[in-house]
Amino acid sequence: MHIRNFIGGKWINAKGKRTFDSLNPADNRRIVAKAPLSGREDIDLAVAAAREALAGWRRKPAPRRGEILFRAGELLIREKQRVGELVTTEMGKVLAEGLGDVQEAIDMAFYMAGEGRRMQGETVPSELPDKDCKSLREPLGVVALITPWNFPTAIPAWKIFAALICGNTVVFKPSSDTPACAAALVQILEEAGVPPGVVNMVCGSGADVGEYLVTHAGVDAVSFTGSCAAGERLEGLLGRMHRPLATEMGGKNAIIIMADADLSLALEGVLWGAFGTSGQRCTAASRVVVHEKVHEGFIDMLAGAAKHLRLGDGLLEGTDVGPLINEQQYMKVLDYIRIGSGEGAQLITGGMAVTAGACAHGFFIAPTVFAQVTPNMRIAREEIFGPVVSVVKCSGLDEAMGIVNNVPFGLSAAIYSRDVNTTARAERDLQTGIVYVNASTIGAEIQLPFGGWRHSGSGHPEAGGRGGALDFYTRIKVVYRDFSGRLQKAQIDK
Ligand code: NAP
Repeated sequence: MHIRNFIGGKWINAKGKRTFDSLNPADNRRIVAKAPLSGREDIDLAVAAAREALAGWRRKPAPRRGEILFRAGELLIREKQRVGELVTTEMGKVLAEGLGDVQEAIDMAFYMAGEGRRMQGETVPSELPDKDCKSLREPLGVVALITPWNFPTAIPAWKIFAALICGNTVVFKPSSDTPACAAALVQILEEAGVPPGVVNMVCGSGADVGEYLVTHAGVDAVSFTGSCAAGERLEGLLGRMHRPLATEMGGKNAIIIMADADLSLALEGVLWGAFGTSGQRCTAASRVVVHEKVHEGFIDMLAGAAKHLRLGDGLLEGTDVGPLINEQQYMKVLDYIRIGSGEGAQLITGGMAVTAGACAHGFFIAPTVFAQVTPNMRIAREEIFGPVVSVVKCSGLDEAMGIVNNVPFGLSAAIYSRDVNTTARAERDLQTGIVYVNASTIGAEIQLPFGGWRHSGSGHPEAGGRGGALDFYTRIKVVYRDFSGRLQKAQIDK
């Protein structure tokens, strides 16, 4: 497959004609796509196209913009199987999750299409007679969107659909690991009738063209999802430019299991939270804090179940866990396993690369469980982003919540307990943007905001609902209209 950039409604090669390969992580001998290794001149073209398209798009009534998104949702339904398989082939997650990635984009398309008819401001009474007071939502302008590889359809769709319904035009720089998935989404938007220049996609290195894009003089705002290292760098750069920036970054999410929990339910939550998507979700459960009364028994249950998970190509039926995305991520996870053992944690199961049989040419790591983990160990504090879970023992809810909250991240946390008072206290006191009760740390729904606190994000959530993405992709204009036909002195006396 040969991917091109999409600029001003045309699929074109990078000016410099250079390309890079995206590989199938389950078998890295297979090239999924050749994509343009763009340069700064390609970004200049894309930003210019987005600027040119802005006036027409922002004046298009929001319900009409919504109709285009609705068509995109219908096309995504038509293409769900094809795009889902592409997600699995290029990113590695198992097919059910690949299809789920596309489903999130479908849900978001329909949700944001509806938002076109709810683009509410406020109308409030004036202090004066014959005067109107209202606030309106206006687009920000040209927005730069930078996305990671782990949800290669869903995250771009979350950002692009929200930006578009609000009347912004877009320059989208996808992850270099998943350009084919990005192109598939943009093709659908093109077919849905998005006018030329309204959505532009430029592939290439984040450190080079990504950074050039977000600091480009023609860009008005930036939404970034990815690592803390890159996000914090952008926060430094863009803060100085006073440019709106939304960041969604890493997590160190935890599940608390109390002594009265339904342990079978908790086990399922830990298995899929920790090992689903090979642990490569920002909301992945990478810590489990277990009450001492059930600690030993739960570790046995977890180790037994983790051992039976089948690794392999996510397209094959029966595969539970796919590969890591690339060699760098694979080496990083193996490093953390060494660090965990070196810190004195007890390796219960996994802890090694899997290179036999069908896994011979992919980046596979066995689902790994560490016990005897203490809260200050690096494996209990740092994001690993792989199939590794650390079990920490606790003696009660307060201690458990202290452990969960005492990391720099604040994305997602979960508690399993049958006691309503216990779960209510956890809901109140867990310091994360998302809290789950008797469910794992994963599984957001798009009609509510999605975002982390502290090092997990800048507090401009994605997705829908009050306080969600619409608040980021619009700015408020206040209008006072006096229709008295005279100078109302009270206005001046204030
Ligand atoms: P990453 O390395 O930070 O890359 C994310 C995106 O940023 C890619 O498109 C990358 O381009 C680009 N980029 C890198 N450096 C840049 C720079 N200096 N300026 C502009 N763009 C730059 O992250 P990743 O490995 O793709 O994703 C994994 C991380 O994402 C994890 O930490 C995970 O927790 C986080 N994540 C967070 C959420 C959330 O909602 N909180 C959701 C998903 C993932 P290249 O691909 O070309 O390097």
